[in-house]
Amino acid sequence: MPPILYDLLSLFYPEVCPSCGNLLNRDEKTICLSCRFLMPKTGYEIVADNPIARMFWGRVRLNAVSACYFFAKKGRVQPLIHELKYKSNRDAGHFLGIEMAKEIIQSPLYEGVDFIVPVPLHPKKIKIRGYNQSEVIAVGMRSVMNKPINKDVLVRQIATASQTKKSREARWQNVKDIFVLHNPELFEGRHILLIDDVITTGSTIEACANVLLQAKGIKVSVAAAACAPS
Ligand SMILES: [Zn+2]
Repeated sequence: MPPILYDLLSLFYPEVCPSCGNLLNRDEKTICLSCRFLMPKTGYEIVADNPIARMFWGRVRLNAVSACYFFAKKGRVQPLIHELKYKSNRDAGHFLGIEMAKEIIQSPLYEGVDFIVPVPLHPKKIKIRGYNQSEVIAVGMRSVMNKPINKDVLVRQIATASQTKKSREARWQNVKDIFVLHNPELFEGRHILLIDDVITTGSTIEACANVLLQAKGIKVSVAAAACAPS
C-alpha cells in the first residue's frame, strides 16, 4: 500500500511490537528492529553436542536437535511465544519459523530434510486455539526451506491435561502413549524435521520421536523456537 495510506491507517490501527510494546514503523514487520536485534539466538543449529541435544542422550536417538532462542522470563522471546499461543498472532509464529529456518539451512547437521512435521496438537485444542502453534511455525519454516509439511503420518490420539504444572515424571506419563503413526511407510528412509514451540523437559519431543523411529530407516531431527530451563 502507498506509504501515506499506511501512515493514515496506523494512526487508527497502530501495530505494536509484541515484545516491547512500542509502535512499529512501516519498515518493521511483526516485531521492532531493536527487539529483533536483542532476541538471544542460541547458535545451537551447528553444534551437534549442544545442551538441548545432550538432554536427549540416552533417551532417544535423534540426528540433530536445536532451539533457536533462549527463552527467559520477562525476556524478548517470551511475549512472542505468548502472542502465538494465546493471542492468535500467527505472524509471531511465522517470524519464529523464518528465523529458525534461516539458521537451519546453513547447518550441515540438518542437510537432506524431506518433511517438516509439527508436533501434533489434539483436535480439541486446535478447536479452542484455532490452530496448532507448531504448524504455524512450520509454515514460516517452509517459506525459507521449500520443504513440504506433513501432518498426516504422526498424529495425536488422546487429549492431555496442561503440562505446565507437572513434574518431569508426571509429564512423561502424560505424553508417553499419545502419539501414533499412520502409514509409517511414507516416512521410511526419510529425514524428518520435527518442530515444537518451546523445549523444556523434552518429554513431548521424546514421545514423538519414539513413535517416528518405528518407521524403518528414518532419521529424526528436531528444531524448536526456544528452549527454557525446566
Ligand atoms: Zn520491540
